[in-house]
Amino acid sequence: MAPQPAHIKRDNAARIQDESFRDSISTVDKQGKRVWVYPKKPRGKFTRWRQWVAYALVVLLLTGPFIRIGGEPLLMINLLERRFVLFGQTFWPQDFLIFVLGFIAFIVFVALFTVAFGRLFCGWVCPQTVFMEHVFRRIEYAIEGDWKQQMALNKGPLTNEKILKKTLKHVIFFSISFIIGNIFLSYIVGSDELLRIIREPASEHIGGLTAMFLFSGAFYGNFAFFREQACTTVCPYGRLQGVLLDRHSVVIAYDHMRGERRGLFRKNEDRAAAGKGDCIDCKACVHVCPTGIDIRNGTQLECVNCTACIDACDHMMTSVGLPTGLIRYASEAEIADKKPFRFTLRMKGYSAVLAAIVGVLVTMVVMRSDVDSTLLRTPGMLFQERPDGRISNLYALKLVNKTHREMPIRLELLEPAGTVELVGKPIDLEPGQLAQGELFIVLPKEELDGMKTTVVMGVYSGDRLVDKVKTSFLGPIGAR
Ligand code: SF4
Ligand code: SF4
Repeated sequence: MAPQPAHIKRDNAARIQDESFRDSISTVDKQGKRVWVYPKKPRGKFTRWRQWVAYALVVLLLTGPFIRIGGEPLLMINLLERRFVLFGQTFWPQDFLIFVLGFIAFIVFVALFTVAFGRLFCGWVCPQTVFMEHVFRRIEYAIEGDWKQQMALNKGPLTNEKILKKTLKHVIFFSISFIIGNIFLSYIVGSDELLRIIREPASEHIGGLTAMFLFSGAFYGNFAFFREQACTTVCPYGRLQGVLLDRHSVVIAYDHMRGERRGLFRKNEDRAAAGKGDCIDCKACVHVCPTGIDIRNGTQLECVNCTACIDACDHMMTSVGLPTGLIRYASEAEIADKKPFRFTLRMKGYSAVLAAIVGVLVTMVVMRSDVDSTLLRTPGMLFQERPDGRISNLYALKLVNKTHREMPIRLELLEPAGTVELVGKPIDLEPGQLAQGELFIVLPKEELDGMKTTVVMGVYSGDRLVDKVKTSFLGPIGAR
């Protein structure tokens, strides 16, 4: 394209500075009422790629609770039992530090990813976009037609056809929401519990059934009515864009240097000579936008990076014989200064922090013991002196098996020389379960270190030492 004359460059600058469109959102009118968005059905290569990614994710999300690794689900966040399973690894409240670090690593990763690539996550993998654009919206297109037919149907009188289409759509919407609600519940309580809720009498699972219908209702309300508002007004991640994005972040951007001054297409016209840029002002990018914005105004927090406008604009450019890519993945620095993507100092800083946290996290996960043990002296109990002169203390023991194997447990005193006497039967730790018991630690008087002696007990599974636990031992005044 020929270099732009000065007046077009001035126009560009003025357009960039005019930020008044940010004072309102396109889905709310001046009276504060919701403006329903009717996006045109997107078509194009990005839409096709996103569709394949979306279908793979839908399959993964729906089958996730039923996929087992070593007998445990792929992902389960059981808040009620405070048990979390990630890729078949069970985590307990005792792994709180790992959780905190994992959460911090996740936040830093999100920040780094957003600084570099904007809302790429929203457009390609966010479950809201995946289900909204590739499941619910597609069903709507199939039943009610494209945007103009939908608009006409909604504004038209209540005919038999309208009743039929609307009923069919909402029955299908609720059915899918019910499936999603059930799957969501099984991520919380586990798939076995979900099957029990479905198969066993309703009276035995009032809580589970209530949750099932509440989740289904929430998903139905979201996908049938609330829709893009979840991204533009509720999602906190969208709000973060303002602080995380800068001129070097790659976002879905309109190339205003090339596109302005916009003007309608006229056959055989020399656009450069007429003072026009490549944007033919067809508004195809606006018509397909599911959040109802005009990307030509610049990056906006409502943009969920869905790529629909890229496909729409590429289609228009091809049909009028101009190069594609007027809307594309690009940073403002790339568009305005023609600078290629570079790894900025800010990105390097986030990466260094992320690498450090992930390093610590991986070490902690690798070093994590198979058994978590808690040994506390029974409150209110002092020591007992035995007829043979040895001293004993009574303890409460709590063991958590973090593995998928059954573990017969043996306890041995490592320091100082003494014995452990379990009260009751030997402990057999079931996979992923917690076991509690009581035991005596018995020490000869000569092993005591004054009134308070530090003792270390080893927890063995077979001959393997799986955990060590330290506690204190009380003895009589003047011992040793
Ligand atoms: S501006 Fe483009 S990428 Fe952003 S939400 Fe609208 S259509 Fe999707
Ligand atoms: S689709 Fe492309 S050419 Fe049409 S208005 Fe949008 S940016 Fe301009």
